[in-house]
Amino acid sequence: MTATVAKVETFIVTVPRDTPYLGPLGPGERVNARGYVVRKGNGTIYPSVDRSLAVRITCSDGSEGWGETYGICAPRATAEIIDDLLVPELLGRDPEDVERIWDDLYGLMRVRGCSSGFHVDAITALDIALWDLRARRHGVPLWRMLGDRQRERVTGYLSGLPAATLEGRVEMARRFQAQGHDAFKIHAVVSSEGIAEEVAALREALGDGALLMVDLHWKFSPEEALALIEHMAVHRPYFVEAPVKPEDVDGLAWLAERSPTPIAAGEEWYTEYEARLRLGPHAVAFIQPEMGHTGITQFLRINRLAEARGVATAPHATIGAGLFLAASLHASVTLPGLWRHEWQHSVFSRSLELLETDMGYADGSYSLPTGPGLGARPGKRFWDHAERVY
Ligand code: MG
Repeated sequence: MTATVAKVETFIVTVPRDTPYLGPLGPGERVNARGYVVRKGNGTIYPSVDRSLAVRITCSDGSEGWGETYGICAPRATAEIIDDLLVPELLGRDPEDVERIWDDLYGLMRVRGCSSGFHVDAITALDIALWDLRARRHGVPLWRMLGDRQRERVTGYLSGLPAATLEGRVEMARRFQAQGHDAFKIHAVVSSEGIAEEVAALREALGDGALLMVDLHWKFSPEEALALIEHMAVHRPYFVEAPVKPEDVDGLAWLAERSPTPIAAGEEWYTEYEARLRLGPHAVAFIQPEMGHTGITQFLRINRLAEARGVATAPHATIGAGLFLAASLHASVTLPGLWRHEWQHSVFSRSLELLETDMGYADGSYSLPTGPGLGARPGKRFWDHAERVY
């Protein structure tokens, strides 16, 4: 029986935090009047709370789907794009046509330069909700709609050591290692005692067996990044992430060709069109698609490009209410080229509290939510912190 989209609602979920994302404020950092902090390490703005944007789509037969997109900054802008531009063109459409709907909604604004950013975030929320709705109407978990299952669980790696000092971060890493964790990514934007110094200290503390990844947060020119990577090579990082500015496509390829350490990038890419520019002959070794930006349709298309190049996937994890993380896990179990999925421990446990779901993280891997669709729904705490926008 055909059902068509009848109603779309948007919700902003805001959950206070004691310690800002990426750790305590450093010297010269302050929370501004709108509740944001600009990190001195790379000049990027972050909220001092956890915040996300969720949508609920209801079909003509009463079936529902939930989606979510990146909502940490200016979420009302994305909500407005959804309500003012996209919903009127979505009403009456059949969720079975989800990929064509993505192309149609993207096409509304592509010639005006809205080929990324807030516009595509808005499409992403709807895309995930349509895929959820579609899988639920078929009575299957989402992954079944996306491909063959390649694995039971999704292996993770620990990302971020949110302590104020290098000593504190090393101590935190040791504690996680004692619990069985074997892979650690440092966030260079808060490596106030030095990036190479932090990698050296962690290698010494954690031993030869630990995998160490270094997120450089787009801080460097290609030449500076190469010099730093060559300097750190003795400590054998597993990969170095986001070394150069997002716009420096040629610099990324230049570095990927020369770097002694594999390069990872892609958490800020939205579409296959952006990915294709960066997956040429000197492609990075790992791509890191963020489901909260790509949605399911583009996540899969970007991965098909990477697979054809032999590039591995290490999906990104960011602040959210857990719905797009659930979507990322469903897609990840179907990827032949999956390496590991990022585990932002300080974010994931907080999202779980918002949801009714059986997804989890234990013994170094994620367990996939079961049940139809995403296998995750807003729970009581979500509704306690949600504000309906439209
Ligand atoms: Mg990163």
